[in-house]
Amino acid sequence: MDIQLDTAPCGYFSISNTGLIQSVNGTLLNMLGYERGELLGKHLESTMSVTNKLFFHTYFYPYIQLHGHVNEMYVSFRTSTGQDVPVLLNGIRQQRDGETFIDCVVLAMRKRIEHEKDVLQTKAKLEELYQKTNEANQKLELLHAEYETKQQELLRINHQLEAMAWIDPLTGLGNRRFFQEKLLATLASYRENEELFSLFIMDIDHFKKINDTYGHPVGDLVLTNLARLLQSMSRENDIVARYGGEEFVAILPDTDQETAISIAERYCATAASTLLGEYQITISIGVATVSSGDTDQSLLHHADLALYASKSSGRNRATHAANLVKN
Ligand code: GH3
Ligand code: MG
Ligand code: MG
Repeated sequence: MDIQLDTAPCGYFSISNTGLIQSVNGTLLNMLGYERGELLGKHLESTMSVTNKLFFHTYFYPYIQLHGHVNEMYVSFRTSTGQDVPVLLNGIRQQRDGETFIDCVVLAMRKRIEHEKDVLQTKAKLEELYQKTNEANQKLELLHAEYETKQQELLRINHQLEAMAWIDPLTGLGNRRFFQEKLLATLASYRENEELFSLFIMDIDHFKKINDTYGHPVGDLVLTNLARLLQSMSRENDIVARYGGEEFVAILPDTDQETAISIAERYCATAASTLLGEYQITISIGVATVSSGDTDQSLLHHADLALYASKSSGRNRATHAANLVKN
């Protein structure tokens, strides 16, 4: 055999039409671990596993008979020590000196198969990673949604807390803090634009008796009903709040002394003639109208003095602080 073919960088063999090995190059012998003498004249299939023999019979021979060649066929040869060597095989059927030969070249495929295995493994790992990333993303989305819900809940609770900080829970009116803020704001408007206003402090007469006679829950009911009544009597811009206990306050914008006292008297009369639930009460009112130099404290103080005067002069009445100074 030509030295170049014998040492070519691929295996080469030639078989007869019936599969007997006619020639084989050194490269293939090395690949399979045989001496040339061991293979020449032997059936090619003696270097194959049973499965490969079957494959050769059902595919290789019929195909090459039909088409005259076989390209890129994957088969395995078996070495002298029983190892399988995967190869890529190209074969061609040709006539030489009136005889038919099938000449084949084979390339060992181990590296390529390992490489393919590596690629497959990498692909599987990538898919696993992708799956994990997907799962992690889904978890993240769930957590994000949970976080959003909690955030909304927190906002809602904060709003509630904020509202609770300004609202009296029993009557639903603004509480003392709310009133204080409104009074300061109204005073500021007065100082800036001379927007006159008056202030009421309203106190239920002998309220303790209601509690003592009917019990605290009835007292609560009366407070709630009076709150509603005061609100129904107030004008749109008036601010009514619960100052504490059985005391209520009102800021009446754009209301001078005379108007204020007449409104306060109307409040007293209406409260006295309205049944709160089944209970009859009266209220006393102290009125103050803002004047220059007033502070929130001085206004409240004046209204409180006027309230005290209403109480001490018989209750169920309104007194304006300005009249106290005169007397
Ligand atoms: P006066 O005519 O002098 O105002 O007499 P009064 O009984 O109304 O006043 P006093 O200050 O002696 O009593 C006020 C009562 O109001 C005592 C207290 O238990 C009651 N009170 C305060 N806050 C509440 C409340 O939220 N619910 C109820 N039911 N009673 C309350
Ligand atoms: Mg009181
Ligand atoms: Mg009272």
